[in-house]
Amino acid sequence: MSVRDKRLYIEDLTVSFDGFKALNNLTLYVDPGELLCIIGPNGAGKTTMMDVITGKTRPDSGTAWFGRGIDLLKMSEAEIVASGIGRKFQKPTVFEQLTVFENLELALAGTRTFLKTLRARISPKQHMRIEEVLDIIGLSAQREALGRILSHGQKQWLEIGMLLMQNPELLLVDEPVAGMTPQETERTTQLLLSLAGEHSIVVVEHDMHFVRSIAKRVTVLHEGSVIAEGDMDKVQKDPKVIEVYLGV
Ligand code: ADP
Ligand code: MG
Repeated sequence: MSVRDKRLYIEDLTVSFDGFKALNNLTLYVDPGELLCIIGPNGAGKTTMMDVITGKTRPDSGTAWFGRGIDLLKMSEAEIVASGIGRKFQKPTVFEQLTVFENLELALAGTRTFLKTLRARISPKQHMRIEEVLDIIGLSAQREALGRILSHGQKQWLEIGMLLMQNPELLLVDEPVAGMTPQETERTTQLLLSLAGEHSIVVVEHDMHFVRSIAKRVTVLHEGSVIAEGDMDKVQKDPKVIEVYLGV
């Protein structure tokens, strides 16, 4: 891989809903190992962009490549997951009646075959991977705790852990710190920073203090296009960004 290769190439994406352009010639790139934050007012197209990357929504025009070899627009949602893209939605979807360990165990195979997985014996290597992920997400001591007794923050970390079981190269994370206490937010900062480098991460978040603490590069979306890009200091001073987003 040359140093100039990107992990994700989004070029000229347009998505229309009844003539309204949710994405309007959106172009952005994600570097290998980068932690990119995307901000922008409600309706800017942030979720739609993630929907296109994960195959949930098909664009009218434009291209989306995962590395140089994988054309995301030609793949199904399941194929995209299998190619190494994991998405975390805002609302955690951990299984409340299963333990933390069991949640990670079933994430190994994906939820569709979870009944089969729970009955099957996991290999020593898979067991080691679960231990490793428990350590990464800071829930080793809670391994036998049922999902339903976890705090909001712990559920969010478990869900990130469930994504990690699939070893995704690219993680898409929607509003990870919404509803978290300051302490939980701080731990989430540390967790995402520890995952960057090994994974490329795209985070959509409204909490500017959090964005400042994790992002080297911030991309600002408005009306389906990029209006500013750069470090936090640069985008916070941008008159257009202040007008459409930060000024309110
Ligand atoms: P964001 O996540 O930045 O708040 P979205 O991507 O959810 O923005 O939405 C962008 C725009 O597209 C909004 O105006 C929204 O109402 C519209 N939109 C999103 N999904 C649909 C859909 N399935 N049908 C019609 N309009 C949609
Ligand atoms: Mg959204």
